[in-house]
Amino acid sequence: MIQIKTSYEIDQMRLACQISQEALMAGGAAVKPGATTWDIDKVIYDYIVHHGAKPNFKGLYGFPGTACISVNDVVIHGIPSKKVVLKEGDIVSIDTGAAVRGWNGDNAYTFPVGTVSPRAQRIMDVTREALARGIAAAQPGNRIGDIGAAVQQYVEENGYSVVRTYVGHGVGRQLHEDPEVPNFGTPGRGPRLVPGMVLAIEPMVNEKSHVVETLSDGWTVKTVDGGLSAHFEHTVVITSKGPVILTQSRVKTGG
Ligand code: MG
Repeated sequence: MIQIKTSYEIDQMRLACQISQEALMAGGAAVKPGATTWDIDKVIYDYIVHHGAKPNFKGLYGFPGTACISVNDVVIHGIPSKKVVLKEGDIVSIDTGAAVRGWNGDNAYTFPVGTVSPRAQRIMDVTREALARGIAAAQPGNRIGDIGAAVQQYVEENGYSVVRTYVGHGVGRQLHEDPEVPNFGTPGRGPRLVPGMVLAIEPMVNEKSHVVETLSDGWTVKTVDGGLSAHFEHTVVITSKGPVILTQSRVKTGG
């Protein structure tokens, strides 16, 4: 069932979403050649707990990290590790969330490690713009399929593919609520968007095939063909005036 939030509940969610975004950008600031994904996870954990929030990914379905940190051809759910050392030219997708008083925020961003190739830069740029287009389609009166269609059209016209196996979702008391928010779809299909709906819109974009596989650790999701993958996500509330991004920093961090 889709939970429609009151304006009071949206105000409650806002702080969790702000801290989630700030933690994500703090993690991004720690991205550099030689850093491990474990180091970055620690920065994100510290930011969240020092600001009175809870790392809501940690332990969810048994996930061991604070953030999912996914390098190059890893799409999502990379487990932070001292063995994963970032090197110049990598791209690293960080997905994290924070909870305050039981309300959740969820967001993701793909960062360059040092200077990256034009090829790597382009998939990040296209994915970030795909998220912007998905958010722009999240207008009251539209339907879930309008979001996915906007994302898919932009991604495919740029020669990339959208991951089908994993999708965005409602956010609220639970990190993952109804409805599912696919990054593909048909305009005019799916649940209608109404004010008070809170959605995590999160295109996962692959350079080549959309097909992914899960590694034997049970978490790490990679492209089957070794192509790069990027991931951007915001938690967004539908209002009568249009979509509003809740995962925005209270301070200017560049995110
Ligand atoms: Mg999400």
